[in-house]
Amino acid sequence: MREIPRIQFAHLPTPIEVMPRLSEKLRGPKLLVKRDDQTGLGFGGNKTRKLEFLLAEARFQAAKTLITEGAVQSNHCRQTAAAAARFGFACTLVLTGERPNRSNGNLLLDNLFGAELVFTNSEDAEATMHKVFQEKQSQGKNPYLIPLGGSTPTGAVGYVYAMRELMEQGCNPDWILFATGSGGTQAGLMVGARLFGIRGKILGISVSKPGVDLEKGAADLATKVADFLGEKMSFDSTQMLINSDYTGKGYGIMGEAEREAISLFAKTEGLLLDPVYTGRAAAGMIDLIRKGFFKPSETVLFWHTGGTPALFADDYQQNLEGV
Ligand SMILES: *Cc1c(COP(=O)(O)O)cnc(C)c1O
Repeated sequence: MREIPRIQFAHLPTPIEVMPRLSEKLRGPKLLVKRDDQTGLGFGGNKTRKLEFLLAEARFQAAKTLITEGAVQSNHCRQTAAAAARFGFACTLVLTGERPNRSNGNLLLDNLFGAELVFTNSEDAEATMHKVFQEKQSQGKNPYLIPLGGSTPTGAVGYVYAMRELMEQGCNPDWILFATGSGGTQAGLMVGARLFGIRGKILGISVSKPGVDLEKGAADLATKVADFLGEKMSFDSTQMLINSDYTGKGYGIMGEAEREAISLFAKTEGLLLDPVYTGRAAAGMIDLIRKGFFKPSETVLFWHTGGTPALFADDYQQNLEGV
């Protein structure tokens, strides 16, 4: 495997903890949690692993400005803004929709990290981002563009190494469950599992997209990641396990299932989930346990991908009062 340039700033390895009280409550299999909500950069999360490689690439290209996009409460944007501050890049975030009246949750943090915020209003996010890119380029601000979720081959390498980390921690669960959005985490995990002999099944719980779209995207990205690492491997959609039964009313819309999951994790393990990603993935896991999807003898690792600052965004906060 080819070594990819990296700036090391994540707090790694992230701990693996047992969740005995949650297992007992659900009368489920053995449950573990991998704490990537504790990667150490500006409240942490899965994007920090990707950013170690993306920032190294940006620096190599002599970039001065990082540009990326996301939802108003994007965790990826918040972590990118933090990394930019830490390594001396300017940062422009293209956020979908209109500027809210109040900046809280991730948006508050984007501001604190000094990011420039561009709201798309009714414009297309991709188009806006490319416009911003061109502007920065013509101003000599050497922009480096990070696509949605940092899910390029370079970014996804973060999760290839995360699998090596899991192997080195001596952890080989029967199942690995996590929230899947743009597919970069899943692609990296799949490549890493093959490279480092992790045999457990890797099951992404989709937070928004239908399984078929995601499976194809994640498989194509995984093949590219392997190629980028100088490894000959190919992946097709049938090898990507994605469950999209839990997308509810759509991206970022918290429902009863997420509220219950957040409440259960908090009350049995003192562990915080977020309303958009890990709350949804955990709701999926809880439902699968209740349906007897896992064997009682199996071990299920819930890979916590972060996102907790969104708990403090107005909408979610109000929705969680009194759970
Ligand atoms: C971005 C994100 C994900 C999804 O990761 P992808 O690599 O985009 O699939 C999951 N959880 C949280 C908290 C995230 O911010």
